[in-house]
Amino acid sequence: MDRSELSDFAKGAGADVFGVADIGRFDELPPEKHPQTIFPETRSVIVLGRRITRGTLRGVEEGTNFTDYAFYGCHWLDDRFVAMTTYRVAEFIEDAGWEAVPLPNLPPEVPPMGVTVRKNQPPPNVMLDFDDAAVRAGIGEIGYCGVLLTPRFGPRQRIQIILTDAEIEPSPILDEPIDPRSDQSKDLCPLGAFIGEKELSICGKAMTVAEIDYRKCADCKNGAMPNRHHPAGKPDRLAAVCVRTCMDYLERNGRLENKFSAKFRKRDPWTVKENIDFYKA
Ligand code: SF4
Repeated sequence: MDRSELSDFAKGAGADVFGVADIGRFDELPPEKHPQTIFPETRSVIVLGRRITRGTLRGVEEGTNFTDYAFYGCHWLDDRFVAMTTYRVAEFIEDAGWEAVPLPNLPPEVPPMGVTVRKNQPPPNVMLDFDDAAVRAGIGEIGYCGVLLTPRFGPRQRIQIILTDAEIEPSPILDEPIDPRSDQSKDLCPLGAFIGEKELSICGKAMTVAEIDYRKCADCKNGAMPNRHHPAGKPDRLAAVCVRTCMDYLERNGRLENKFSAKFRKRDPWTVKENIDFYKA
């Protein structure tokens, strides 16, 4: 299947980000994280998504409206808009005679929820790490904040995946860093949730990311939201002050392709600098 033809269709169906990894790029992953555990005939992994519009973050930035992000940046965006785009692309692939397995973005850290049904097979439900897959598909990098960054939007997107048995030429893995800094990034969390840093390597792409105390993020009042799928999943931090500050930095320094006439951060962001008593002890 021709990648540019598929990419053009995906863009017409609303996709703002799109990339393809061949299955060989997942060789280093264990069966419980491997696409072929879900669909053994997978030859290509398509990662696609839609932007979170910058204005959707405005109410959180000002501390005056959080539900706008909850709907347009999270629930409706993922469950309706991205899902519709993903499904249309899956239909396009199946119209061409290939099987297409659409996958919603569920937390990979959730423990198995069943028993193994066949020898040498992990128990259900096998969840892929979507940010990891996005790097393998050339869409972006894992930023210091621990979230996916893309050249066009930084951290502002929601992604889903299609597994297919169609052979598609893979997208090149991004080699230029989007966010090259790490020294200033250590101070992005006002609650001290960045407790160290670690080196990540995905398909040979090296990235330095913060080690994060997610217990603090789970109680963060600075725009973070609990994981909406499972209590064991990582909190949603795309609207949190750490990630918004990262996005503002990237925009101010010309690192993102989606340009605006005015800066995102116009005044000090609304923040709660103290966490709950448990963490102050
Ligand atoms: S979500 Fe909150 S606690 Fe977690 S790193 Fe961001 S600002 Fe800090």
